[in-house]
Amino acid sequence: MTITKADIERCKAAAKTDVYQFYKWSKWLRLREEVLRMDKYECQKCKAMHRYSPAQTVHHVYEFRKYPKYGLSIYVENENGVKVRNLVSLCNRCHNAEHERFKNHSNMIKKVMNEERWD
Ligand SMILES: [Zn+2]
Ligand SMILES: [Zn+2]
Repeated sequence: MTITKADIERCKAAAKTDVYQFYKWSKWLRLREEVLRMDKYECQKCKAMHRYSPAQTVHHVYEFRKYPKYGLSIYVENENGVKVRNLVSLCNRCHNAEHERFKNHSNMIKKVMNEERWD
């Protein structure tokens, strides 16, 4: 699949306004299918732990809102110039765990901040 400059602009615009514009987009839906097929519809996190779970979703390792330019990239080059997977097939459980990690982190910060209030 070729990604044009216009596609990247569209990703950036969606990330700024309405991310669902991206997730409804036919180009994303086709790519999502391609990733699932590539991973044989198997959760890659479970697979790494020698477990089998059917994949239900395709996750952006580089969070879409923060890195919209990678929205349609299966692979990206990391800071060290190493090609890594950006789009990975996950089961719902692993997908939630990936997102909870961030949520818990910010909840924790909020909690600490609240506890340090004097009033
Ligand atoms: Zn899994
Ligand atoms: Zn995700």
